Amino acid sequence: KSAIKQRHLEVADELVPSDPGQLYIGGEWRDSDSGDTLDTRDPTTGSVLAEVQAGGPVDIDRAVDAAWVAYHETWSDYSVTDRQATLHAIADRIEARADDFATIETLDNGKPISEARIDIDLVIDHFRYFAGACRVEEGRTLPSGPDHHIETLREPYGVVGQIIPWNFPLLMAAWKLAPALAAGNTIVLKPAEETPLSILELMREIDEILPAGVINVVTGYGPDAGAPLSHHDDIRKIAFTGSTEVGRTVMKNAADSITDITLELGGKSPLIVYPDADIETAAEVARVGMFHNTGECCCAGTRLFVHENIRDEFLNAFIDEVTSLTVGDPLREETTLGPKVTDEQVQRTLEYIEQARNSGADIVTGGGEPDEKALSDGCFVTPTVITDIDHESRAVQEEIFGPVETVFEWSEYDEMIDQANDVDYGLAAGVITSDLQQAHKTARDIEAGNIWVNTYNEFPAGQPFGGYKQSGIGRETAAETLEHYTQTKTINFDLK
Ligand code: NAD
Repeated sequence: KSAIKQRHLEVADELVPSDPGQLYIGGEWRDSDSGDTLDTRDPTTGSVLAEVQAGGPVDIDRAVDAAWVAYHETWSDYSVTDRQATLHAIADRIEARADDFATIETLDNGKPISEARIDIDLVIDHFRYFAGACRVEEGRTLPSGPDHHIETLREPYGVVGQIIPWNFPLLMAAWKLAPALAAGNTIVLKPAEETPLSILELMREIDEILPAGVINVVTGYGPDAGAPLSHHDDIRKIAFTGSTEVGRTVMKNAADSITDITLELGGKSPLIVYPDADIETAAEVARVGMFHNTGECCCAGTRLFVHENIRDEFLNAFIDEVTSLTVGDPLREETTLGPKVTDEQVQRTLEYIEQARNSGADIVTGGGEPDEKALSDGCFVTPTVITDIDHESRAVQEEIFGPVETVFEWSEYDEMIDQANDVDYGLAAGVITSDLQQAHKTARDIEAGNIWVNTYNEFPAGQPFGGYKQSGIGRETAAETLEHYTQTKTINFDLK
C-alpha cells in the first residue's frame, strides 16, 4: 500500500507543480474571482494531487470577453495556413512530451498507463487531422442565371464554449479544441472538475505558440462554471460532452440565447455475437469493448448479445478474458484495469450491481471491490459479468459507466434487434461475425451512430463519432465537424 502511494507521490512531485496553474484567461494565469478552489485527487491512492481554481460566472464573463478580444484582434487575422501551422505546432509540443501527458492522465484519472498512451497518440493525431482538414473547407457558387452571382462562405462563429467530461480528459479536449481552432473560432473551455491537470499542463506547454485569449480555460464545478458558459449571451456555439442528464440542461440553457449546440452524451451499446464467430476473437473484442478505460467509455459495449448455439462456449472464453485482467496500480505497465475516477463513481457502480443481484440476476464474476483495495486506498471495482438479468432492469437500461457487462442470449434475429435497440441511447454497437452480408444487415438495423464490425473502440481521426437518439446531436472527429464550428453566409451579387 505504502509503496504504491510513495511511487505516485514521487511521480506527481515530478510532473504536477504544487501550483498547477490557475484559470487561464487572456493568456494569463489568475485566481478565481471568488477565491474558491477545488482539490483534484489521485484515484489510485486517494491523495490530493493539486488544488485548482473553482471558477464561477464572473470568471466565465472574463474568459468570454478575452476570447472575443482575441478573435477580433488576432485569431481572425490568421490565414488558414497560419491556423494549420498553429495546430501542427500544438501537436508537436504534445508529441515531444507524450509520456508526461500520459502519466498526468493516469495520475488524475486512474486509467492504465498503456491506455493513456493510446489517448495521447489520438490527441496528437486529432490536431494534425484538423490542421489538414481546414485546408479543404470551401464555400460554394450557386447556379443563378446571367443576372446574379450567388456564393456561400463558411464563417467561424467567433467565440465558442466547450464543456468536457473526466473519462478521456485530454482527448475530449482535443476533439473540441482542434476543430474549433481549425474553423477559426476562439474558445472558452471548462474541464471536468475531477480531471483538470492535463489540460492545464497543455496550456502551459502551448502558451507561447498561441496568441493570448485564443483558448481560455476555466476550471470549476458544473453548476458554477459550466452553467453560466452554456447560457452566456456572447457564446455563439456550445459543444458539450457528458451525461445525457446534464446535456439536457445544457441544451435548455443554450435555448435561452438560441445558441447552436452539439452534444456527445451517454450510451448503452449492444455488442452482437453471431454463431459463426471465432470464439477467442469474439471474447477478446468483447473484453476490449467493455473494459477498456475501466468501462468508463461512453460507447462501451455494455449489453452483450450472444447466439444461443455458442453461448456456453463463448461465456467460458469471455470469463477467462475478464478474470485475466490485471487490476491494480495504473502506473504499472502490466495493469489493464485501473481504479474508477472517484469514490462516488465506485458507489454508483456498486449500487447498480446490488440492484441487479437483488433482482435475481447472476453475478458470474466480480461484483464488488477487489482484494487489491488492500494494496492502496484506491477507487477499484472488480471487473463484473452479469447474466440472467431482465432487459428492463435499471442496470441494463441506464448507463453504469463502470466495468460491468450484462450478457443476453439470442436465437431469433428480429427479436434480438428489437431488444438491442430497446434503450434510450444510440451511440455505438459492435457486430462479431465472419458473414459479411449479415454484418452489413445488422449494422444497418442497429440504431446507433457508430458500428464496429469484428473490432471495437477504434477512434481514428477522420471517422465521424456521435450518437443517435438520446446519445447526442452532431458528429465529432471528422471533417464534417468543421460544419458545426462554422455558419453559412450567402452573398447574392446583382450583375445587371
Ligand atoms: P457530467 O455530465 O456529469 O459532466 C460533464 C461536464 O459537464 C463536466 O465538466 C461537468 O462539470 C459539467 N457540468 C455538470 N453540471 C453542469 C451544468 N449544470 N451545466 C453545465 N455543465 C455542467 O458527465 P461526466 O460524469 O463528467 O462524464 C461521463 C458522461 O460523459 C457519461 O454519460 C458518458 O457517456 C459521457 N461521455 C460521452 C462521450 C461521447 O462522445 N458521446 C464521450 C465521453 C463521455
